[in-house]
Amino acid sequence: MASRPASVVAATGIRRVFAGTTVLAGVDLRIRRGEVVALLGESGSGKSTLLRILAGLDQEATGELTTTGSTAVVFQEHRLLPWKRVADNVALGVRGRDARERARTALEEVGLADRSGAWPSELSGGQSQRVAFARALVREPDLLLLDEPFGALDALTRLKMQALFGRLHAGHGFAALLVTHDVEEALLLADRLLVLDRGRIAEEIEVDLGRPRAVDVPGFSGLRRRL
Ligand code: ADP
Ligand code: MG
Repeated sequence: MASRPASVVAATGIRRVFAGTTVLAGVDLRIRRGEVVALLGESGSGKSTLLRILAGLDQEATGELTTTGSTAVVFQEHRLLPWKRVADNVALGVRGRDARERARTALEEVGLADRSGAWPSELSGGQSQRVAFARALVREPDLLLLDEPFGALDALTRLKMQALFGRLHAGHGFAALLVTHDVEEALLLADRLLVLDRGRIAEEIEVDLGRPRAVDVPGFSGLRRRL
């Protein structure tokens, strides 16, 4: 049996220029299997541009990019199709005869089994984002790309979603690139922080402070804290 590569993404010298303006000036990035990496940087620093490149959604970028396995993306806005019911939106993420069954399982995992017949317009912002996570999960991605997935949510909903993310990661073991401008969120969820500045990865910070421990907050199981 072939051994599985240790990294899900290896990018070297990624460049992206928009109308003469260099947004990414040579980004090097590696994400190991199962690792959660947070990508920080000021607004306009190119975080979303980099995420789209890694997702294969930008044909104009140059550099070397190797991805291994399947990838799924969660954006800040849920991007559910309003004319499809929740379960059908989730089933879109996957093909095959067992698509509906897998969609049901994914909805259970995000705590929304009872809303599978609802329309997206009937959901709250947090619920919609849970569906977006289910739609990503159903593909059993090796890499999950997240572009400020909790950015539009109120503080309490965001906390619950962060806990959900921790639980899903513990259960599935996907690698993730989490774009966020929330440093606390990055510290809470990520193994490693990257800071994008002037088109390059300007800083890399290992989050593990040597005393990892799980805290069990009632109703928030799965939240990881390392402080
Ligand atoms: P971030 O996600 O870090 O806020 P973005 O990646 O969205 O930053 O944008 C980085 C820079 O690239 C910004 O100056 C933005 O205006 C520019 N940019 C992004 N997408 C496009 C595009 N399709 N056309 C022109 N400029 C773009
Ligand atoms: Mg952005």
